[in-house]
Amino acid sequence: MKKTTILYEGKAKKIFNTDDKDLLIAEFKDSLTAFDGKKKDLELGKGALNNKISTELFKLLNKNGVQTHFVDMIDDNNMLHKRCDTILIEVIVRNIATGSLSKNFGIKDGTILPFTLVEFDYKNDKLGDPKLNDQHALLLGLVSDQKELDILRQKAREINDILKPYFKNIGLNLVDFKLEFGKDKDGNIILIDELSPDNCRFWDIDTGESLDKDRFRQGIGGVKLAYEEVLKRILK
Ligand code: 5GP
Repeated sequence: MKKTTILYEGKAKKIFNTDDKDLLIAEFKDSLTAFDGKKKDLELGKGALNNKISTELFKLLNKNGVQTHFVDMIDDNNMLHKRCDTILIEVIVRNIATGSLSKNFGIKDGTILPFTLVEFDYKNDKLGDPKLNDQHALLLGLVSDQKELDILRQKAREINDILKPYFKNIGLNLVDFKLEFGKDKDGNIILIDELSPDNCRFWDIDTGESLDKDRFRQGIGGVKLAYEEVLKRILK
């Protein structure tokens, strides 16, 4: 499969059209960004790590009956995936309080939540990805109806029910993560984008150490080593 024209360039990936109208290629970039792109850096090899981690996690989800856009890993930095219409909602799943949940609601960092919290953010960089409730999402026409919002929540929980025990088994707490969904050519709502330490928080179960993009957000360093550690444990 060959790249033809570029369709879109985001902060972490370039998306290319291919000679098959139903398939796209995502090229994972080495750039790291945080705080709506205000903090930027380059980490050589990060793109390849995220491509490999996402590939393994998409395969795991596919194996467990969750439909995703993943088709194949082409090489270190490139993934072949289905073309979908992106739903402009970031679905945030949380098992442990930290980040914006702690900041916005005063919940102590590290509190284990009594149930899995699913939130919606409006995927809109210019507006800073504001929080959405169901009525906002319907008002903005981000989905067709309430049923689609219910599907997003249900799929997010289903994915968490697979990933949380999977990561526990490799010594990581899956603290929270961001999912994106799209509609494939048949109108099915399926998981798109990526699943990597760029959009998931992983805390080592024994040490509590962050093995994700918080190392970059907080300027702790060791970003690549942390991503490599996540991949190493996944491949074990
Ligand atoms: P928070 O809302 O606490 O900043 O983020 C919650 C979770 O969603 C974290 O795992 C974070 O990585 C992910 N997340 C939220 N918004 C974004 C975003 O715009 N881009 C990426 N890559 N991840 C996000």
